[in-house]
Amino acid sequence: MTFHSKREIQFYCLASSSSGNAYIMAFPNESGLTSVLVECGLPYKDIQKRMFDNGLAFGNIKACLITHAHKDHSEALSDLLDRNINVYANEKTLEPYKDNPLAHIMEIDRSSEILKDVYAYAFNTVHDVESVGYVIYDKYTNTTILFINDTRTFDIGKLKGLNFDYIFIECNHVRKQLEIVLQKAIESGDQAKVFKYTRQVRYHLSLAGTKKMLRQLGLSNTKAVFLMHLSDDLGRAEVMKREIEYTMKVDCYVCGKNGGIK
Ligand SMILES: [Zn+2]
Ligand SMILES: [Zn+2]
Repeated sequence: MTFHSKREIQFYCLASSSSGNAYIMAFPNESGLTSVLVECGLPYKDIQKRMFDNGLAFGNIKACLITHAHKDHSEALSDLLDRNINVYANEKTLEPYKDNPLAHIMEIDRSSEILKDVYAYAFNTVHDVESVGYVIYDKYTNTTILFINDTRTFDIGKLKGLNFDYIFIECNHVRKQLEIVLQKAIESGDQAKVFKYTRQVRYHLSLAGTKKMLRQLGLSNTKAVFLMHLSDDLGRAEVMKREIEYTMKVDCYVCGKNGGIK
């Protein structure tokens, strides 16, 4: 399913998991639609193919926003620069490309115009590498979108007073299930799994953590919440969607590992 807002911003998911993340936000203007690719954590050819499969023109991408340097969020970065696409990310992510005029370092706690009438405000999040979240504001449709991926938490204070029309947020795992598999891994001495699950506890949002963040943000003006980056073995799409809808009284959709929004 493609999610079309009443104001005609179109949201697409091309991939969403620790194997790859890529989302399209297509913004309307007088001359049609201009797209922002948010995260580019797939091989460039796969992004092209998945866009084609969704009836989207790659040529409409005028900017790419990236949250952090991990490959599942940034794999196609250099290919995008080679194809003359402006890329916006934090300093760490763009370190290897600092002399490229198309690589734009996002200043923290500042807003930058990334497309005509589309602004992105970057704020720090908590992950095992330097990472940011974005508040994206589209002046043409007067729409505010929060995008926050791969984090354990973030400073809500910076976002106080903002009303988000749409929220894209990580919902990686159900904490109780993660605790059970972590305990089993510790008991069986499986160090690779202990490392993997400990990292998930420390640097990714659980369903409980996502709910806590949403509650603090306040959802009175929010039309929809999109859950991202579900864990392959510990993500529970239906449970998460139902729980958020029931407790938060908001429409909730899940971004699929191989694309699509349900
Ligand atoms: Zn990730
Ligand atoms: Zn990451």
